[in-house]
Amino acid sequence: MRATRFFISTLKEAPADAEIISHKLMMRAGMIKRLGSGIYNYMPMGLRIIRKVENIIREEMNRAGAIEMLMPVVQPAELWQETGRWDKMGPELMRVKDRHGRDFIIQPTSEEAITDVVRSEIRSYRQLPVNFYHIQTKFRDERRPRFGLMRGREFTMKDAYSFDRDTDGLKKSYQIMYDAYTSIFQRFGLQFRAVAADNGAIGGSGSHEFHVIAETGEDALVYCPTSDYAANMEAAEALALSDSRAAASAAMTKTATPGKEKCEDVAALLNLPLTATVKSIVLAVDADEGKEKQIWLLLLRGDHELNEVKVSKVAGLANFRFASESEIVEYFGCKPGYLGPVGTVKPVNLVADRTVANMADFVCGANEEGYHLTGVNWGRDLPEPVVADLRNVVAGDPSPDGKGVLAIQRGIEVGHVFQLGTRYSEDMKATFLDENGKPQLLQMGCYGIGVTRILGAAIEQNYDDKGIIWPTAIAPFEVVICPMGMDRSEAVRTETENLYQALLAAGVDVILDDRGERPGAMFADWELIGVPHRVVVGDRGLKEGKLEYVARRGGEAVHVPVAEMAAFIQ
Ligand code: ATP
Ligand code: MG
Ligand code: MG
Ligand code: MG
Repeated sequence: MRATRFFISTLKEAPADAEIISHKLMMRAGMIKRLGSGIYNYMPMGLRIIRKVENIIREEMNRAGAIEMLMPVVQPAELWQETGRWDKMGPELMRVKDRHGRDFIIQPTSEEAITDVVRSEIRSYRQLPVNFYHIQTKFRDERRPRFGLMRGREFTMKDAYSFDRDTDGLKKSYQIMYDAYTSIFQRFGLQFRAVAADNGAIGGSGSHEFHVIAETGEDALVYCPTSDYAANMEAAEALALSDSRAAASAAMTKTATPGKEKCEDVAALLNLPLTATVKSIVLAVDADEGKEKQIWLLLLRGDHELNEVKVSKVAGLANFRFASESEIVEYFGCKPGYLGPVGTVKPVNLVADRTVANMADFVCGANEEGYHLTGVNWGRDLPEPVVADLRNVVAGDPSPDGKGVLAIQRGIEVGHVFQLGTRYSEDMKATFLDENGKPQLLQMGCYGIGVTRILGAAIEQNYDDKGIIWPTAIAPFEVVICPMGMDRSEAVRTETENLYQALLAAGVDVILDDRGERPGAMFADWELIGVPHRVVVGDRGLKEGKLEYVARRGGEAVHVPVAEMAAFIQ
């Protein structure tokens, strides 16, 4: 590629709405351009990276035996009604009507669509296992679209769906995908970690997330450096809480009458294997359809942003909401309280640094320590930041496998594999005939990778004060040739062209910067864009028969004989 025939558009300053480094750098490097909230044009420079990411994914998926197809972005509501997701999904699911007033959705994933294909195409056990995937535009009307491609509303996902005859088969298909994901993220050249994403038995899990490790990641990952225990924070907390939940449940159900006994039950309930200081307490109601209503007491501590959805995961409640004051009164025989001056809602002060031992008093409204206790509408007064900073698992806790202590690092979720079982095939009646001609439900797995999110995640892990440092495998160009004074020097023109042709012939993804920019501006552009290898062709070097090579990471210039440069670079 010659720069004059490509489109390069860099900025000195990032727009004000870009909060994190990857968003800023992608905007400055002209890789994306905002069209609306969470909606971006993928500019030519950005699209090259997306295509490289897609190609690596495609190669590894194909190698793992998955079959590529393409399912529609716009899908009829009927399919989503069959599985109940039309009602369950809430506002994140983008719904549209056609001219006849019929309902459609813009796909956030494609379980329904693929299950519809499979229920009519797959008849016999002989056709199993099978795994279909596509790389397609997704839309999720995220509550807070932000961070550029990291949490967009429109984004690209690779989603794959495996179908098996039984759970053994599903586990095999799952493992194949897990391994394929490992290869994919290795090939990207990114530092990543796979973590259990549910609290299933240690060592075996029905779901894993793949995270790119980065300080700025939204998720906390819990792992044991001396064993292979690794889980996302929600799963780690759910595991830590599972004993406490059983205790809580027992305490709650034996409570019948309001009043003093309730306090004792709460105290019993609080007699949990928690040793550290509890920073806050959240009361939540299990609003799961058909289940008996229970109030759950969640003790939380830690250092992580926690939103409502995550709280629900922590509590293990399928359908979570905060308890109302009257519900709390009904269960605990007293009003809920919070610490802080009356009249101000200062969430961070909420039950600061209280220990498990005196928490029961708190819940039950005792104020012998002289704190002001007041009715709290948890939904209103306990917004996101209140619940922040609160964790049930902290660094230094013993690992659940007993093989060491836990450490915590931050990650960006870039992939997710999931054993769905018959969740969709049951609702959609997706069956196959077994050897005896008997219909059986298909066992399904789903496997997502956030293609466009990878760009943001890769940058969060690889940048410096000059700009992006792409791993070669996903760089927009592998090599840039920067000629010095091409207009003045015949020698520079000739050697530049020779090297360019040699690299092209060797299959290297090279761009020749023939824009005639001054060296400072030219270097600054390519350092910002993050091309990993740079070759400078100048008269001074040529006099000694040499070209200058600089790695984007590392920086020291190396002088390489002209004839050896093409080989040197590969
Ligand atoms: P998150 O927890 O970040 O909201 P998710 O768990 O909702 O992600 P999945 O349903 O597991 O996402 O989708 C598979 C993959 O799609 C995710 O691992 C992530 O890489 C990507 N993804 C999900 N939401 C977005 C988004 N809004 N923008 C970009 N990529 C996304
Ligand atoms: Mg999400
Ligand atoms: Mg997630
Ligand atoms: Mg996920």
